[in-house]
Amino acid sequence: MVSVEVKIWKKEVTYQKDGVDKRATNFFLQLNDQLIPIEVKYFPQKKFNDRDPGYQGRVSALSLVAEMLPDKEKPAKVNPEQIACPKCGKFMRVDDKDDTTYYLVCDVCSIESKFDSKSVELNFTDSDGNPIT
Ligand SMILES: [Zn+2]
Repeated sequence: MVSVEVKIWKKEVTYQKDGVDKRATNFFLQLNDQLIPIEVKYFPQKKFNDRDPGYQGRVSALSLVAEMLPDKEKPAKVNPEQIACPKCGKFMRVDDKDDTTYYLVCDVCSIESKFDSKSVELNFTDSDGNPIT
């Protein structure tokens, strides 16, 4: 028996049908780190004119136990030319840069900073490389 972490998620979506905005709920089953889209099956029945009277109830039951899927957090947009020195508050000077990293310095306070534009990570150090919090 494999141990798995199971979660049920839902996501409210809007779509267009015949030019009209429609709302729907998408469901996902999460097994460990896999997000698996699932759909409540619709069973058209002849005696109900091809409708499925139990469908809404099944959707509601699933919706009740499902948690809202959090939106993927977008990394904050940071302009490396406008990063304030944590001590004097002035914009730091871009001293050097390579493909992803900006090396910033405050000429007043001798505080240095490295800004990684990929991870959007920013850390400040003094001129000896000691971290400043
Ligand atoms: Zn400064």
